[in-house]
Amino acid sequence: MTSVATERLCEGSASVTVGYFGKPEEPRPSVPAGYHLQLLDVASTSPADDLEICLVSVMPDDAGAGLRRVRAAVGEMCFVVAYVRDGLGADWMPRLLDLGADDVLSETTADQLGLVLKKAEKAADFRCRMRRNLSRAESERDVLQAAIDNLPSPIFFKNRQGIYSGCNTAFTRYIGLPADRVKGASVYDVAPEHLAKVYEEADEKLMQEGGSQFYEAKVLYASGEERHVMFSKAVTRDQSTGEVNGLAGAMLDITERKELEEQLRRAAEFDHLTGAFNRRKFFKSAGEAEAEALEKGAGLAVLVIDVDNFKSINDRHGHAIGDGALCHLVEQLGDHLSEGHFFARAGGEEFFVLLKDCDLDAAAAMAESIRRRIETSIFSESGVVLNYQISIGVAALERGETVSSALMRADKALYRAKEVGRNRVFVA
Ligand code: GH3
Ligand code: MG
Ligand code: MG
Repeated sequence: MTSVATERLCEGSASVTVGYFGKPEEPRPSVPAGYHLQLLDVASTSPADDLEICLVSVMPDDAGAGLRRVRAAVGEMCFVVAYVRDGLGADWMPRLLDLGADDVLSETTADQLGLVLKKAEKAADFRCRMRRNLSRAESERDVLQAAIDNLPSPIFFKNRQGIYSGCNTAFTRYIGLPADRVKGASVYDVAPEHLAKVYEEADEKLMQEGGSQFYEAKVLYASGEERHVMFSKAVTRDQSTGEVNGLAGAMLDITERKELEEQLRRAAEFDHLTGAFNRRKFFKSAGEAEAEALEKGAGLAVLVIDVDNFKSINDRHGHAIGDGALCHLVEQLGDHLSEGHFFARAGGEEFFVLLKDCDLDAAAAMAESIRRRIETSIFSESGVVLNYQISIGVAALERGETVSSALMRADKALYRAKEVGRNRVFVA
């Protein structure tokens, strides 16, 4: 099919083609210089022809249906002039506009055709420019959409009422809905109610206060995957009034960073083999316990625990079994010591215990109960079943004494316990 609009109106060409829908045998209206009529039929015309202006010969018996057929054939962008043949009363003129004509010209006033075509030409020219602007805006929008679709972070836009006005592919994956279902939806349509309420309140606060908003949150992807994200949102404003008209947001995935932070935090406080607190954490907590005991006038005691002949466990059963025995000891200590007390792996096969609200007698009794527990418990792993013992040095902090100093005294007591035969508790 050839395009009727061979000369583009908005490029200011010399001759303008006017499509003519009428019976070939009818006399055609004569167009002024600068225009030429091209006889068309409805069946072989389509909106894709980009026809700018057309003249439709309207017959009394078929005015409405005829105009509707032409409008369907030429599309919304064509300027349609109804050319009314004799026999249609003046009251029909406004009705023809309702039926799809953009202007009406009666056969009896055909000398005004030049004026009508001039008006049509101006309107068509305007439409043409609008169409060009629209298609430029559409292609710019497509470029931007393609750009944000390539970004891995979910991105979304909302209007002032909190309705999603756009998003990128990563956001559709997060929500689990196609883009056309996200657009026009409210947060209540895409998130569980309790979360939707939180998001809505945060959005409303941002839009009232302006500026930007950053916060971390755990989110659940439609796939069921949980991720840590940093929400980064900022209001958008109407270019002419400056009024807030919505917001744009991005969700930056910080899951790996969070996991790394957690690993670092654990490494700083925990012993990686046994999962017990480490020496550094012990001395941090000891400082706090010292201050608390001083303030309350409460007792504070320490134990130094060392596995007897541990080297021979390694030698006989291998290092892995030695490791297992250390984990077993940590389990036993965890079960035995109540909440307020605290223990840590000091290094190798040596452990420190901090006993709060404890005097020397209570600490010695606690040490003895631990020793007995280990003496009577059985450790088994990979077919190896063994029983091991521990020796413990005990010291209670004296007035003004530090935990470190009490640990040195407890360590000396432990040394004596080893000297006299092991598997015993000695008090400093
Ligand atoms: P004592 O009764 O005098 O304490 O004798 P012991 O054999 O327990 O003490 P010694 O200091 O001679 O040996 C401690 C051993 O603990 C030596 C070392 O190889 C072992 N050891 C230290 N850390 C670990 C560990 O993380 N895993 C294992 N399996 N062994 C460890
Ligand atoms: Mg030992
Ligand atoms: Mg030791």
